[in-house]
Amino acid sequence: MKCPYCGKEMNKVIDSRQAEENSIRRRRECVSCGKRYTTYERIENIDMMVIKKDKKIEPYDRNKIRSSIIRSCHKRTATVEEIDKLVDGIENKIFNMYTKEVPAELIGNLVMDALKNFDSVAYVRFASVYREFKDVNTFMDEIKSLLENKEENKDENKEENK
Ligand SMILES: [Zn+2]
Repeated sequence: MKCPYCGKEMNKVIDSRQAEENSIRRRRECVSCGKRYTTYERIENIDMMVIKKDKKIEPYDRNKIRSSIIRSCHKRTATVEEIDKLVDGIENKIFNMYTKEVPAELIGNLVMDALKNFDSVAYVRFASVYREFKDVNTFMDEIKSLLENKEENKDENKEENK
């Protein structure tokens, strides 16, 4: 952590507090020039493990969620900010519910929920990969229930799915 004023690395932390769910705001003072500055650090939840369908365990990786959403939103109108916001929401839910291990299935469901309200096409793309639709009928059922759902929440979704 280099001082933005003089570039020296020695500093002392004056104050630390949680800024958001997964980040810490630290007020620092440079030992060399005495100026104060603020840093934000992401809390990396390296302890979190993901339990996959085949019971194999792998370290939690935010980027996996992010890239699967980016893939699903390919050529759609989503901006990077919107996608990062979706990932933040999903991640916060995960860390609110679990502390050490999270089933991969739950992550998949959270991504589906988030995409459902965000972009129907991205949702269907993600769901078709994630649910591994065995045949056209299962796929059609999913789309049908999506459309019915849409009909019900028409006014609500108009705002969200522009
Ligand atoms: Zn300095």
